Amino acid sequence: MRIPERGLGRSDLRTRMRAMRASDADWRGGRTWSMVYYAGEELSGAVHDAYLDFLFENGLGPMTFPSLRRLETETVSMTAGMLGGDADVVGSMTSGGTESILMAVKAARDRARATRPEVREPELLVPVTAHPAFDKAAHYLGLRTVTAPVGSDYRADIDAVRQLITPNTIFMAGSAIAYPHGTVDPIAEMAALAAERGIWFHSDACLGGFLLPWVKKLGFEVPDFDLRVPGVMSISADVHKYGFAAKGASVVLYRDAELRKFQFYIHTSWPGGVYATPALTGARPGGAIAAAWAAMTCLGEEGYLRLARGMMETTRKLVAGIESVQGLRILGKPVMTVLAFASDELDVYALADALQRRGWHVERQHLPASIHLMVTPAHERIVEPFLEDLRAAAEEVRGQSPAATTEMSAIYGLMGALPDRSLAKEAALEVLNQVYRPGEVDLGQLLGIR
Ligand SMILES: *Cc1c(COP(=O)(O)O)cnc(C)c1O
Repeated sequence: MRIPERGLGRSDLRTRMRAMRASDADWRGGRTWSMVYYAGEELSGAVHDAYLDFLFENGLGPMTFPSLRRLETETVSMTAGMLGGDADVVGSMTSGGTESILMAVKAARDRARATRPEVREPELLVPVTAHPAFDKAAHYLGLRTVTAPVGSDYRADIDAVRQLITPNTIFMAGSAIAYPHGTVDPIAEMAALAAERGIWFHSDACLGGFLLPWVKKLGFEVPDFDLRVPGVMSISADVHKYGFAAKGASVVLYRDAELRKFQFYIHTSWPGGVYATPALTGARPGGAIAAAWAAMTCLGEEGYLRLARGMMETTRKLVAGIESVQGLRILGKPVMTVLAFASDELDVYALADALQRRGWHVERQHLPASIHLMVTPAHERIVEPFLEDLRAAAEEVRGQSPAATTEMSAIYGLMGALPDRSLAKEAALEVLNQVYRPGEVDLGQLLGIR
């Protein structure tokens, strides 16, 4: 494709782009179970206004835009207060959880280089359920990833973690909550193991950071996970998830300013001047920073508590409904509003396909095969219609022969069953290659499945 020779007017442009969204997911109506966190028009309107007001401003220039410096430092400070931080805690805003994690690993690596120079082949140790952002960070930063198994409760197996620590381990992390099954790892025990050995410990609260504090305040049982836990040196929390901000906003916090210094990047001999940035990116969207501050300030504790109460009630109803379907069971004990269910009797991928035909976008997981749900306020009104469709889909799949298995279920079944993970990687590389090209894509054909 080329840039069009003649430009398109504003209104034609909008018509054309809106038409492109025809087959996008209907997240406002609660038909999706991932990707978007929506809490109604009042809040999203405030976030929208804030984003547009700072649409062109650049967070790279704290002196040029003192407003953005203030909005960022206040967002970080409010997040630290929510996560048990004291006056020494500092942090940064980043573009998302992946960047927050990348920065914590980078800080840990550079600190290890300074304080443990004998370590030549640094290792990062995380539970197998930890977000891929950790392995991605290790991949980018030259560390080796070591993964610990989880127990039958889908939380990190603490004995396995202890045994996997080596003289090369410089970074450990646990999740609060872990994305796949919504569980909280034994953060306090893991952080204690790390602290005894001088290893950096990170608590990944990207998904749970903006909800667990409120869930706990409502009286639900929440394991300790934040800066109140001794040994936790850094923690990440995504404002663009349960903080209900616009995409492009996360916070990474450090126990003190000495630790955060290892995150910064400074170049002093560039003809363009002394170049200093706190995190990965150069130019930073002012809108994302402003929208994060706006979401937190618009909701306040009262708003977050109200949303948390509603989502916990929705989750309770969903769990009860899922468990009442013969053959379905919840994996582990979800702490808040993210859960996965599996089956020993039904093909859950076929079940996911059957739900999809009824208009529900659910995420498929593997190792073990399961369906993932992430509850938001948008789901409050669809609990019954969803459960009705789930029951119907389960009955449909129950009588089905394996030959009826559809394309999507075949792909996931195949990927999960591949004995050699490098084959799965090859297949996924080819999918990415095809997806990021203009034109239509046919996943089934790509993977040779018909
Ligand atoms: C979403 C998520 C991340 C990564 O965050 P992005 O904003 O998608 O980059 C990291 N950890 C957990 C537990 C997550 O759910």
